[in-house]
Amino acid sequence: MQQTGGYQLRLLHIDVAGGASRLVEAPLEGDILGPIDYAIRLHHSRGTWRAPLLSPSNILVIGRGVFAGAPLYGGHRLVAVFRSPLSRGLHVSALGGAAYVFARTGLHGLVLEGWSEEPLVLVVENERVAFEELGWDMLWETWRGYKGHRGTKALALYVRDRYGCSLGGEQRSLVTGPAAARTLAGGIFSPRYRGSGLDPAAFDSAARGGGGTVMLRGHGVAAILFCGDRDPAEANPRLRDRRLLDEVSKRVLGKPYHQAAVEATTKYRYDPRLGTGGTCGVNYVHYRTLVPMLGYNSVYLSQAAREKLLRLVLERLWEPFQREAIEKRNWGTCGEPCPAACKKVYRGTKMDYEPSNALGPFIGVFDAEETRRLIDLVDEAGMDAIEAGHVVAWLLDLLGRGMLHPEELGLEGLPGRPSLDPLRVLEDPEAVTRANAEAARRILEAMLEHRGWLPTLVATRGLRAAAKALNAGLPGRVAMHHTGFHDAAVYAAHGDRGYMTPNLYWSPGVVAPMPVLGRYWTVYSPGFAEPEAMAETAVHRAENEYLIDNAGICRFHRKWAEKLLDALYRELWGIEADLRRHAAARLLEIARYQEQAGADPRPWESRKTVDMVASIAAETGAHEWAARLATDPGAAREWWTRFRRHAEKLLAQHAARGQPVNPAAIA
Ligand code: SF4
Repeated sequence: MQQTGGYQLRLLHIDVAGGASRLVEAPLEGDILGPIDYAIRLHHSRGTWRAPLLSPSNILVIGRGVFAGAPLYGGHRLVAVFRSPLSRGLHVSALGGAAYVFARTGLHGLVLEGWSEEPLVLVVENERVAFEELGWDMLWETWRGYKGHRGTKALALYVRDRYGCSLGGEQRSLVTGPAAARTLAGGIFSPRYRGSGLDPAAFDSAARGGGGTVMLRGHGVAAILFCGDRDPAEANPRLRDRRLLDEVSKRVLGKPYHQAAVEATTKYRYDPRLGTGGTCGVNYVHYRTLVPMLGYNSVYLSQAAREKLLRLVLERLWEPFQREAIEKRNWGTCGEPCPAACKKVYRGTKMDYEPSNALGPFIGVFDAEETRRLIDLVDEAGMDAIEAGHVVAWLLDLLGRGMLHPEELGLEGLPGRPSLDPLRVLEDPEAVTRANAEAARRILEAMLEHRGWLPTLVATRGLRAAAKALNAGLPGRVAMHHTGFHDAAVYAAHGDRGYMTPNLYWSPGVVAPMPVLGRYWTVYSPGFAEPEAMAETAVHRAENEYLIDNAGICRFHRKWAEKLLDALYRELWGIEADLRRHAAARLLEIARYQEQAGADPRPWESRKTVDMVASIAAETGAHEWAARLATDPGAAREWWTRFRRHAEKLLAQHAARGQPVNPAAIA
């Protein structure tokens, strides 16, 4: 039975069209324990699935968890919830550290509604908001360059210099880049200010799903600058009670809180057993030949060939990263005090695993410096690096197959031939890396500038719709190559038109029918099992990840946070909740939304997606499934369907524990 302590979530609803705001208080109880819960409720009650994707009705909720302001490490993420222009369903994306500043506004979140014709900068000081008209000309001029930076970084500096908060103390911003104006994959970026410039470590983004595109093209908001002078623990002094936190930690985890947090985050700080730290440092030496490379074409290779590719990665990407970032201890945090200091900086650029792999080995670029430059390009453009990597790899793969021609991608006159062919990579890694990096740069810039019909098509419609348009428009090439354009990509299909490119792991979980993909709300460790067993793991992970995100806690702290969360809600907020039930019920509500939005999961439709699943089955010894998946289209559908059925059954069972889901609550 859930009890409440009479606390309220305070959300500032901002009507961009009317230039007005109103504070809404929602009791912290029942179905609302954090910003994602609130956003789900709002999207359901407004029926936002009925409106066009990039419309003022696509409400963007950006909120923090209720533990921001407490001396909890990793408790200061901002979470963005919106209807994704890519998946076309409800999506959740998060960025680190920014709630350390945002909590001082005394707010739990911002809710953007309405649309401004001219792009705005919203300046939020405590619960006041100023609507500053920036205009398209000024926005583009700033993106082109300000104080030696471009795109998101330039805009972040500009808004601070031009509109700076008046309350003193630290300020932070949420900004968009040109990708938000020109593609469906624009993210929300948040660099931390340091002196007159930016902190290279604390440059975080909620990039997956196209939240920046929604912010700019759905609402006409280019940036939000915020600061405050409120005490986040004003309403609830227990939040700042370190002794209470230690007591709870000792009771639940058997050790003081700081010790528990330090021990749980070794991998992200520095793991002496591996001699490295952070996701970029650890993942290559941990997953080794299981890391997807060359647009997932590595899944077709023998272990020996993958070993050779791994050697290239270690020599040309990982070792330079080790020398510059790890050995010189170029580490920082995302903007909040945190002993993990997971942000490893290579020559001024923060390098996490997924952007580094997406714009490195995944697109056939085996060189730390080339990858760093591409990360900078994509960060400044304000684009989701994982999506950028998938798109580039897909186009290079089609080029290699002869299904596209260089001039269609603006790649005439390249110094060398781009390729995802492992033989060519191993023969001359330097030449292929140079060609691929230059090709990636040109493709991404063409997408951002809408230069050429094909990059424009991909930028404006996304990978899946572009592939279908190519199938329809170039049937001769489909017939000649006996394969569709979509077959060269790995993605999960949502409804008739939506899709999500997967996180860069070799697992069926990253394309499995779960309510939200493109992040960690699923099973992602390389492996394969019967669909029911995998669904069980995926649901367990999704529920836990949901709760961690909804609490605004960094998933790198999940080892302690998942065990402590029940006690934290109870001891700090007086809330006695069945969190597993809570998460399952919300995930079901998201699943229902996806159906209403026509973005429900659909069976795998590309050959490479099925091959990715079949190959990890073979790799892990599930030979019967591997053989069936490779030869029988019905086998893929069977695995997928059984997974979906079981995942839904488990969620329904968990949601029905204790107190039943109240359908009226989301009507
Ligand atoms: S682990 Fe990294 S991302 Fe998470 S709170 Fe610490 S510094 Fe920030």
